[in-house]
Amino acid sequence: MSVQPAPVRHVLILGGTTEARRLAERLAADPSVRVTSSLAGRVAEPRLPAGQVRIGGFGGPSGLASWLREQHVDALIDATHPFAGTISRNAAEAAAEVHVPLLALRRPSWVPVPGDRWHPVDSLAEAADALPGLGRRVFLTTGRQGLAAFAHLTDHHFLARSVDAPEAPMPPHTEVLLDRGPFTLDGERAVCREHRIDVLVTKDSGGAATAPKLTAARELGLPVVIVRRPELPRGVPAVPDVPGALAWLASPVRAL
Ligand code: NAP
Repeated sequence: MSVQPAPVRHVLILGGTTEARRLAERLAADPSVRVTSSLAGRVAEPRLPAGQVRIGGFGGPSGLASWLREQHVDALIDATHPFAGTISRNAAEAAAEVHVPLLALRRPSWVPVPGDRWHPVDSLAEAADALPGLGRRVFLTTGRQGLAAFAHLTDHHFLARSVDAPEAPMPPHTEVLLDRGPFTLDGERAVCREHRIDVLVTKDSGGAATAPKLTAARELGLPVVIVRRPELPRGVPAVPDVPGALAWLASPVRAL
């Protein structure tokens, strides 16, 4: 009697994060899985994950739903950045429409420790409003798409760090630092000292790769304006790490 091989399952990972790449690597090594990673195409030279890769938007929730149907996707993992709120909402809508099980892989939020001077806000606009009371030389690490929210602050000096060069509008006194994590504590201390930073602005991205700036800010006694994450769409199960996602995939998963 011949043993039938297990059917190959198609898993689509919405990516653009370290966790998404790590998950793709694990799944690409599993012969019972066909893995496709989807990238938005924002970064000029992205680090490509293992397995198949597609790049560019789907055309809203209906475009994603069509893709899931046409490509016979069996499970969808939203491993996008915690601040990529639109694609997460689109994923929830599309997965519900075509009855494909959906999981969010979200690294945990950062948690303040004694000595931190955090000022949590709900948006980049609120972060800009908070700055005048806190400092004049700003280390801005909110990504190149976020500079417009600070463009009206003409009295502040910004050190804006991003992977690719930001585009206008941006504040008039902006120095751009092109760099991609992971960053080290020594490096972050040096950046803050060399640029005489007196306030840090960051999103609550979580994860280890970009956390040393928070330690450097604590050591130097700097205030940190930290933008809270958008909520995940209601009803979407979430795990904090790659092992959690693998466990979910290994269990009988239900559609939303
Ligand atoms: P977003 O505002 O949630 O998404 C805007 C549109 O971009 C979506 O409607 C979708 O277009 C397309 N898109 C986003 N992620 C996609 C993906 N993985 N595959 C295919 N299309 C995608 O997203 P964002 O904040 O611009 O972030 C874009 C990507 O960069 C995400 O994949 C995210 O993981 C990564 N990233 C974001 C941040 C951040 O701070 N936001 C930081 C690091 C990395 P359609 O509607 O046409 O499908």
